[in-house]
Amino acid sequence: MSSETKLRDAIARLAKSMYDRGLTVGSSGNISVRVDNGWLMTPTGSTMGCLDPSRISKLDDDGVLINGDPPTKETFLHRAMYEMRPGTGAVVHLHSTHSVAVSCLKDIDPKNVLPPITAYYVMRIGTLPLIPYFPPGDIKLANAVREMASKHHAVLLANHGPVVAGTSLEDAVYATEELEETAKLFLMLKNLNTSFLTDEQVETLKNKFPT
Ligand SMILES: [Zn+2]
Repeated sequence: MSSETKLRDAIARLAKSMYDRGLTVGSSGNISVRVDNGWLMTPTGSTMGCLDPSRISKLDDDGVLINGDPPTKETFLHRAMYEMRPGTGAVVHLHSTHSVAVSCLKDIDPKNVLPPITAYYVMRIGTLPLIPYFPPGDIKLANAVREMASKHHAVLLANHGPVVAGTSLEDAVYATEELEETAKLFLMLKNLNTSFLTDEQVETLKNKFPT
């Protein structure tokens, strides 16, 4: 089995896993993986619950469709990450409930939306900036993501959802899941007197496990 076939199967398997656990619904959310001569990208209008590996879109280095169904209309979010972060192996974008809920809150710090609740969140995400709201298809959204992607592998689109880059497919999926669980914890802890990790504890983690 070629490595591309294995990657197609892995995308479908992990997408179904996220769908089955309610991390994505309907036809929302998309996944991409870097391959030798381009990208694999989940197709437009497809549901993560039952992707056909052979119909996953294959794009060349210029973003031109080589085979499979037409790619997600949100391909530009993925391209922004790959262009600005050369080590990126995969990108996940979800409309996951708790992350979207946090992205709608008025009193969050747009430079870093979530507090350091757990060590794993700090190790997998670290800092999460908020990208202001722009309507779908607005070129300003692509530009804003591109600008932020040069400094951060994970961003949160206001009133929309997270975009997370990883070194591999598993890395990007696990980081996105960690973000979603942390958003859930953050909402559970809201209005409760909470101990977050201290600045010193966060620094120690960031030095030991750079993201
Ligand atoms: Zn989206």
